[in-house]
Amino acid sequence: MTNPWVCIDCGARQEEQGACRACGHEDTLDARDEKVRELMRDVDMRLSDRREGRLRFLGVGIGMVIIFGLWTVPGYWSLRGTLYPGLPLFIDQWAFMAIIAFGVIKGGEKLFFKRRFPYLKDDLSMA
Ligand SMILES: [Zn+2]
Repeated sequence: MTNPWVCIDCGARQEEQGACRACGHEDTLDARDEKVRELMRDVDMRLSDRREGRLRFLGVGIGMVIIFGLWTVPGYWSLRGTLYPGLPLFIDQWAFMAIIAFGVIKGGEKLFFKRRFPYLKDDLSMA
């Protein structure tokens, strides 16, 4: 394995043990150790959970703003029932919000999510 010493703080790899050359974190860990690789995976999972939570919040917010905004657009309500059948209890409107939220979450994951340790494979081997 080349550059086995990994910085948990920024994900940089380097040849020798010691302070991280990329971010200055005082110590690097030996990624040849399976426990270290497990820790790296846990860090990546925690980061992705946290980002997903934020994105979900953002997605729901954007969906609500767009749909509530459309409610004030003249003619929007007349489309309901002519273009498509409206559903009881505004289920169709809630569904639109959910679709927008889902799109924001999926799009945001693609655009912004970078793993800290992209070289760590799912089976905990390293490239
Ligand atoms: Zn670092």
